Amino acid sequence: MRPSKQKSRTLRRVFKKTPGGRTIVAYVKRKPKKLYCSNCGKELMGMKQLRPYKMASTPKTEKRPERPYGGVLCSRCTRRRIIESARMNA
Ligand SMILES: [Zn+2]
Repeated sequence: MRPSKQKSRTLRRVFKKTPGGRTIVAYVKRKPKKLYCSNCGKELMGMKQLRPYKMASTPKTEKRPERPYGGVLCSRCTRRRIIESARMNA
């Protein structure tokens, strides 16, 4: 019997070409979930989807947009939030 690792879909299948020209099936861990805006629930752009051990070695500037509320709110909600706060202060 084959190991259950190859039968189950827990691991993603990636076709890789070896230096010898053969194609092998590599079993790779799946990506974590996508990130969503905390206000409207829209998918956040420019966010890295990596496993924690890879996240630790990637620079912060590559993981989320470099702006206020980057990685928390989408661009539309950020714009709205900033305009609202400016109106409140005026
Ligand atoms: Zn939003």
